[in-house]
Parts: sequence; structure tokens; C-alpha cells
Amino acid sequence: MSKLLILNWKMNPATLEEALFLAMESDYKDVVVAPPFPFIEEVGKILKKAELGAQDLFWEDKGAFTGEVSAKELKSIGVKYVIIGHSERRHKLGETDEMIAKKLKAAADNGLIPVLCVGETKAEKDAVKKEAVIKRQLEKGLSLIGQKSKVKSQMLLIAYEPVWAIGTGDPETPESALKTINYIKKLLKTTDKSLQIKVLYGGSVNSQNLGDYLKYKEVEGALVGGASLKKEEVQKMVKLI
Ligand code: PEP
Repeated sequence: MSKLLILNWKMNPATLEEALFLAMESDYKDVVVAPPFPFIEEVGKILKKAELGAQDLFWEDKGAFTGEVSAKELKSIGVKYVIIGHSERRHKLGETDEMIAKKLKAAADNGLIPVLCVGETKAEKDAVKKEAVIKRQLEKGLSLIGQKSKVKSQMLLIAYEPVWAIGTGDPETPESALKTINYIKKLLKTTDKSLQIKVLYGGSVNSQNLGDYLKYKEVEGALVGGASLKKEEVQKMVKLI
């Protein structure tokens, strides 16, 4: 079965022209391209095989929320996936588990596929709190979806992304990532059975190391930041999924 490659461009590139070029070079099946908000719609028009993703959303549908973007707005321009709770938003922008839970519910209620990011900081890892942190992030992040929620999304993606491995060139070892992904899968056993759940790894993934993660059937894809901005890297990575 093919695996999923989610390309998180973060706040890159600087211009629409560069974004369209990169999108053309990333247009492959089983790839999700997540550009910055201003470029999403135009990138969506270019993509024929890849799916469109967003890097964030707000939980309300509309109203006086300056600067925010709703699930409905994203859906209306063809977005299918949305990254929620990325560590850069948790740790640089103060996003809490409670905010993340509301975003996740808004995404799921509107038929967007949520990509919930979880993972421990270096300090949490050193203090042997990795499992406790991930358990909390999962339990709280998923707390508003379930039996009572009118979830329209059929699928939920979890990206295990150790914070210390993101953008550092220091990835988690494939063996250790596998162990943590198995732990995540165990925790998710009691989640709503109608949801199809996949767990991905993210953190300094590139074309050199991607295959070492994807060789494990339990690692169902990768969330890639830095390497997603280089067309040669993307083209090598898609050959591995
Ligand atoms: C990310 O943006 O989620 C990420 C994993 O970044 P990088 O691949 O650059 O570590």
C-alpha cells in the first residue's frame, strides 16, 4: 500500500511565482502540498495528482476573528487536509491543547482530514516524559471528536514529530520512531472505529533517510518540512512512497 508524503512549506517560498513552480514539481499521487495561505488557491489549480493541504485553521466558521481562516473557507477552495498543532505553533505561538482540540473538531466537522502533530521537546525527552506528553496531546487533541460530534471526516492522520528533530538535521532514529508510533497506535485503539487512522513520522526527513522509516509498515507516511522546498529532494522522495 502506498504511503503518504505531506509537504509542509511553512512560511515559504516568498512569492507566488516560486510557489507555483514548486507545486508543479511536487504534483504526484499520494502527496499533500501544504503552502502558505496566500498561495493555496493558485497552487490548488496547478495540482492534478497531489492533494491540497493547509498549515492551520481557526475553529469558528465566520465572524470577527481578524487574520484567522476557517475550515469552511479552506474547504471552499479545495483544501482536503489540514495540519493542526504543529510544534512551531504550539511552542512559538502559544497554541494550547484546548485550542488544538477545537481546531481538530472544526476540521473534522467540515470534512477536512486533520493531521494532528504530537511530539516531545528535548527537555521532555531528557526527563523521560515523552510518552506522557504524547498521551496528553492525543487525549486532549482528540477530546472533542467522538461519539457526540458530527464528524464528517473519514480519516485522521497523526504525525509523530519530536520537537528536537524538526528542522535540526537530527532526526529520531527509525527504530525509536517506530516504537513511539506503535505506542501512539496502542493509545488510539479505543478511538471511534469509523475513523481510518494513519500515523506518520516527521522531523528532518529527506530523500536519504525517508526509506529507513517507510520500510516499517507501521510508519504510514512522512511529514516533511525543509526538504519539501527542494524539487530534487521531492522527486527522490516520491519514488520511495
Ligand atoms: C515539519 O515542518 O513538520 C518538519 C518536520 O520539518 P523538517 O522536515 O524541516 O524537520
